Amino acid sequence: MIKVRDARLRPIAAKVEFGERLSNHDALVLFDTGDLVGLGAMANLANQRKNGDRVFFAANQHINPTNVCILRNTCVFCSFARMPGEEGEYTHSIDEVLAEAHAASDNPTREFHIVGGLHPKLRLSYYADMIRQLKAKHPGVHIKALTAVEIAHLAKIERSTTRQVLMDLKAAGLDTLPGGGAEVFGKNVRATIADRKLHAEDYLRVHREAHGLGIRSNCTMLYGHVETHEDRVEHLAMLRALQDETAGFLTYIPLAYHPDHNELGKELGREGTATTGFDDLKNVAVGRLFLDNFDHVKTHWPMVTQFVSQVALHFGCDDIEGTVVYERVYHDAGAHTPMAMGYGQIVRFIKAAGKTPVERDSLYGTVRTFAADDPLFEERGAGGEPASAELIQLVGAGRA
Ligand code: SF4
Repeated sequence: MIKVRDARLRPIAAKVEFGERLSNHDALVLFDTGDLVGLGAMANLANQRKNGDRVFFAANQHINPTNVCILRNTCVFCSFARMPGEEGEYTHSIDEVLAEAHAASDNPTREFHIVGGLHPKLRLSYYADMIRQLKAKHPGVHIKALTAVEIAHLAKIERSTTRQVLMDLKAAGLDTLPGGGAEVFGKNVRATIADRKLHAEDYLRVHREAHGLGIRSNCTMLYGHVETHEDRVEHLAMLRALQDETAGFLTYIPLAYHPDHNELGKELGREGTATTGFDDLKNVAVGRLFLDNFDHVKTHWPMVTQFVSQVALHFGCDDIEGTVVYERVYHDAGAHTPMAMGYGQIVRFIKAAGKTPVERDSLYGTVRTFAADDPLFEERGAGGEPASAELIQLVGAGRA
């Protein structure tokens, strides 16, 4: 019997114990409760049933080919984008992207995670060539590239359809889509924080098309700005409905809003005040409980800190992102976390939370499970195993 302090959670806890689907109203109560421990206990049970004590991580590398974005002035929460010609803008050539991937080849990378701005001039051929050449040089590395927003932007530039763009990129070697660009689906929230961004229905349509083509994808929600609890629940319900239809989502990732260096943070007077650990854990736990048709819920440690991510492993989360190698997007928004986590550091970090580390591939196939007596647990690394100076110089080229 799950112990809860908030009496409103009792009927929900009973549903969780019986494995019943939660209603939108249940999710609202979960977002509203102050009984974080009770909420965590429910989410932990739901996760244990799906994943046991296993916690997944990926040996991955983030690559951001350009920060030039035509929506720079309307996505007011974004600290990453620059207008063409603005100080700090950069666009990497394919050779520079290949050099960045090569500079990190000492790491056991199994996935490239590639996202960037909506560049007004970069054509589909640039991305298809990049993917093709990365595949040729790193044939065993999975390519997770371009959000639904970027796919729709390319379709517009090419006067084509999103389905055709997906097919062309798949032919070039694209394996899966990342989940960025969802933000919060509610019309009012979108009008406030991302007025000209792809609408919710179109974000979901691109993912539906991808799933139909055999391209699995992730999905996200950016929380902690102007959205209400009702907005969050509506967003999660739309994700759950698409997953009922296609079963194509691999994982759900709640993303914490960072208020530094962006218009929204200034407007809200929130600079320097990121989301709270309480709300970070709540978003993981509610995601795990409400999205009963998702196998995995991931915590994004560069956004919420390694410490909160480690605790989240007991609040319904079974995946802690990965080695990352060089994280730009959230560090531009004021994240003070390290740029990367070393492979051994991640393994020890999961083990220290009392869980079993499992290196996964991008489709959640097991690459390696670490037994309790693995020698890697004995090694001691202080902070991180940061990106090499060569890599920092390469990816930082042209930045302010
Ligand atoms: S959030 Fe994405 S689409 Fe919006 S300005 Fe930033 S990079 Fe561009």
